[in-house]
Amino acid sequence: MQISLVTGGAGFLGSHICDRLIEEGHHVICMDNLLTGSKKNIDQLFDHDRFTFLNHDVTETIDLPKLLEDKKDTLKDTKNLTPKTKNLDNIFHFASPASPKDYQEYPIHTLKVGALGTHHALGLAKAANTKFLLASSSEVYGDPQVNPQPEDYWGHVNPVGPRSAYDEAKRYGESITMAYHNKHNIDTRIARIFNTYGSRMRLRDGRALPNFMRQAIKGKPLTVFGDGSQTRSFCFVDDMVEGIISLLTWNPTPNAKDLTPVFNLGNPDEISILEFANEVIEITDTASEITHEPLPENDPQVRRPDISKAKELLDWSPEVSRRKGLNKVLPYFKEQINKEA
Ligand code: UDP
Repeated sequence: MQISLVTGGAGFLGSHICDRLIEEGHHVICMDNLLTGSKKNIDQLFDHDRFTFLNHDVTETIDLPKLLEDKKDTLKDTKNLTPKTKNLDNIFHFASPASPKDYQEYPIHTLKVGALGTHHALGLAKAANTKFLLASSSEVYGDPQVNPQPEDYWGHVNPVGPRSAYDEAKRYGESITMAYHNKHNIDTRIARIFNTYGSRMRLRDGRALPNFMRQAIKGKPLTVFGDGSQTRSFCFVDDMVEGIISLLTWNPTPNAKDLTPVFNLGNPDEISILEFANEVIEITDTASEITHEPLPENDPQVRRPDISKAKELLDWSPEVSRRKGLNKVLPYFKEQINKEA
């Protein structure tokens, strides 16, 4: 049995990864400080024999044996999960605030998670000789001047702008991951994750889809920032999880053209935010109108992943169309709104 640590495992994407790994038969150690994550996202896993939750902030040293020892009395599957670092097989480093609203509220913590947190997680990967998969972001490309963005595009980031804490944290995270890869021979994989949506997104995380869904379901105007001509490419969460698992199990063949372990993961179906808002209006069957609000500073004008590398080397590409995905996630948002009421 493989033992996997998922940092940020109580977040939107991290919790879907935990679910999938449990399904695949792993023992999952989910680590989260619950700053933007929530225990609700992992409720379904708490009773599972192969699931362990550690409330820990990755900006503090990750002394896994000690953290597990402290929890020893509550661990169910102590036979398989002895508190030794050496037992660990994989680290999925997903901890970080991720929505612009969150990382602008916690810029220092976001930078510390990307820098100290990634350093601590890599230190553990080195000590335990595990695979290490970093959740990076399309934000490393900043406000891109090339569209779509291939992995070898270096990006266009404002280091002192309002998005810098997140963008630079992810860029630093990639850099230190490559340093451990090159210097210590750690088996690392970097996923540049493009906009992803699905259940467990927080209704008020400030992102376009939760805002539009909330507004549309309540019959309120949808707030499109700027004229809405900026584009994004939205990937359904199940496709993203599949991509991440394909990246984990990727077996680099020495004759492959590009062995740099960095991959764009996302759905290349690009849409303007104005069209996206109209699509949400249609799917929710609401009479809501659209209002325009000022475009945030440094908001990327375009974003679309070039996924040729993932297609070729991971044999992965997304399968769920945006329309189908939005229909799948609609009941979740309706339920959240009922709960809020
Ligand atoms: N946006 C919008 N209205 C909203 C929230 C976001 O028009 O209520 C826009 C935002 O300016 C950006 C796009 O939607 O151009 C996607 O924003 P989001 O916060 O979802 O993520 P980003 O891709 O910018 O990280």
